[in-house]
Amino acid sequence: KIVVLGSFMMDLVTKVDRLPKNGETLVGLSFIQNSGGKGANQAAAIAKLGKPVIFAGMVGNDDFGLEARRVLDSIGVSTNNLKITKSSPTGIGNVMVDQNGMNRIVIIPGANLVYSSIEFESIKELVRSSKLLVLQLEMDFELTKGAIDFAHKNGVKILLNPAPARKLPKELLRKIDYLTPNETELGILTNQAIQTAEEAIKAAQSLVKEGVKNVIVTLGEKGAVWIDDSGDVTKMKAFSVDAVDTVAAGDSFNGALACGIIDDLDKEEILRTANQVGALTVTKTGAIQSLPTIEELEEFQHA
Ligand code: ADP
Repeated sequence: KIVVLGSFMMDLVTKVDRLPKNGETLVGLSFIQNSGGKGANQAAAIAKLGKPVIFAGMVGNDDFGLEARRVLDSIGVSTNNLKITKSSPTGIGNVMVDQNGMNRIVIIPGANLVYSSIEFESIKELVRSSKLLVLQLEMDFELTKGAIDFAHKNGVKILLNPAPARKLPKELLRKIDYLTPNETELGILTNQAIQTAEEAIKAAQSLVKEGVKNVIVTLGEKGAVWIDDSGDVTKMKAFSVDAVDTVAAGDSFNGALACGIIDDLDKEEILRTANQVGALTVTKTGAIQSLPTIEELEEFQHA
């Protein structure tokens, strides 16, 4: 089984003609509330692709927290290890999007940052007996480092999606089995601007030199590349689709990657499937509801 240790956020999305100025009150166009957060999205992606997955995280003692559990339960994510804190509200993302797709976002991590090494104690046995631990960088960084250290010491494979990006110390990098930046995140990790696939490959190779075993870079509509510590470079083109909303593309890609890894599939097959899952996700709006099910994936593969 797979354990995802990560964030849950309730996205509160308002659509507006234009973004309001300082001190201005506008009547907007629409409002929608979407369960999200990179951790929850990636756990949801895995469950929808039919694999057993446990989500470990924290929500507040409030309606958004109840909704988190309801949504994740309904698609088959195990939420027995989703904790509730009374000291902070459920994390939210306050999103404003204008007619041109420009957005302004304020995130309040809330309960996500209350999850600490104390809560991690209670899932250590679970992590030890799992095949893969999936993490992102939306939780407390000390907690994340401790969890990676524990999994590494116990021989559990680690997939780290380094988002939102920050520089990572070398002693952390060498414990990572699969690191999955997009181009922007890769740029921050390696201190350079990444514009082309070739630049991405070079930068990824520098991370492999620092000790990461596999670096898988997502390149949006250009697909993805996989660089491993044997020097192999595997490239895979994206599938051509009508993109309507790229939210959760990276999360669905990471979920599919996790599924392929625990099935011990070869790199080409994993990348192909992850690109298909990413492509399907961008054809629908929203986060969790835009993630494809295994049935939708198979239909796409046979079309
Ligand atoms: P992120 O959402 O983290 O920025 P990317 O934009 O790199 O990640 O997208 C992740 C994956 O989703 C890509 O590697 C690709 O497989 C798929 N994808 C993203 N955008 C498109 C697109 N316009 N057309 C087809 N596939 C896409």
